[in-house]
Amino acid sequence: MTYQIKVQPSNHTFTAEENEFILDAALRHGIAFPYGCRSGSCGTCLGKVLSGEIAYPDGLPVALMEHEHEQGKAAFCTAVAKSDLTLEVQEISSTDEIEVKTLPVRVASLRKLARDVMEMTLQLPESERLAFRAGQYIEIILRDKTRRAFSIANSPSNDEVLELHLRHVKGGKFTEYVFNEMKEKALLRIEGPFGSFFIQDKSNRPLILIAGGTGFAPIKAMLEQLIEENDTRPVYLYWGVRSEADLYRDDLAKKWAFQHKHIHYIPVLSEIDENDTDWQGRTGFVHEAVLKDFPSLADYDVYMAGPPVMVNAAKESFLQQGLPQEQLFSDSFEFSTPATTSET
Ligand SMILES: Cc1cc2nc3c(=O)[nH]c(=O)nc-3n(C[C@H](O)[C@H](O)[C@H](O)COP(=O)(O)OP(=O)(O)OC[C@H]3O[C@@H](n4cnc5c(N)ncnc54)[C@H](O)[C@@H]3O)c2cc1C
Repeated sequence: MTYQIKVQPSNHTFTAEENEFILDAALRHGIAFPYGCRSGSCGTCLGKVLSGEIAYPDGLPVALMEHEHEQGKAAFCTAVAKSDLTLEVQEISSTDEIEVKTLPVRVASLRKLARDVMEMTLQLPESERLAFRAGQYIEIILRDKTRRAFSIANSPSNDEVLELHLRHVKGGKFTEYVFNEMKEKALLRIEGPFGSFFIQDKSNRPLILIAGGTGFAPIKAMLEQLIEENDTRPVYLYWGVRSEADLYRDDLAKKWAFQHKHIHYIPVLSEIDENDTDWQGRTGFVHEAVLKDFPSLADYDVYMAGPPVMVNAAKESFLQQGLPQEQLFSDSFEFSTPATTSET
């Protein structure tokens, strides 16, 4: 059984399956309900049921007093729909409303995806969740209090673990440790989410998503979310790397393009080497491939993430090719060691 859910005051609508937590259903449709613990104890997800019937399969949540429940208040993280519903929820409309948290995390898995790229998944404490928008990043706080920024590579609907894609920086303090010494189950401290690099709600324009190297991480999160939301705007995904071996989730990008007619995947190699002699695809700088394919960028939204040199070169030429500044969104992977925290 599927129920229709309307949200006030945003007028958003979505569906929830029988026995699906209402918060999970909202996030699955890209509707930014506020939330914290996802276990009924923190109260961040509280809202009101204006019409219809809900139930709590695991009993009334701790965050909800009996009298609040009687007044129609509800904790949507542990509630399920029993009929079509109209809810009152203050959805998150900007990152200012997303709580930045400092959390201990455990390295759940380490998987080498390419010669210099490691996928790391981080397990959050059992009672904690990190609300974020697809495209945002976290900072890892090292013992000397310096921080390293890494984009979250998974969409927010799947937030039990955080997935990161780390490029090995020769001589880099953190990534040398990750590639040479770190073992699964290692403990780290993170703070986040940060950043305003996420898909803007207001536009219906086709999307050009550009990833340089591990800039694929936030772009992957965005695309996963667009797919979950059934957003069928045309998407042109460009992924620029040096050689074919660096297309570390080529399989996934190809699968997206194969399964969704509106998604187009264009990998671009900048340094063809002896292993790439069979390469039939695009070559050169990734932003130049975009410029060639789109003589005018005026009617597109462009999102790009990756090394500063790529982002800077692309910005300038895209604006010259008609892209309005307000349709350009980017995350530049600056590599100067970020400032130390004020924590002691
Ligand atoms: C918002 C944001 C998101 C980011 N997301 C990602 C991500 O998802 N994946 C990812 O791999 N990286 C990402 N980065 C870049 C990442 O934070 C840095 O590469 C990080 O500092 C590496 O840490 P380290 O301790 O290994 O190197 P450090 O000890 O910080 O650096 C050692 C030396 O290497 C240089 N250096 C550091 N990083 C690089 C680099 N990337 N390229 C060239 N020289 C470098 C430094 O200038 C320094 O001289 C992101 C950066 C920002 C600002």
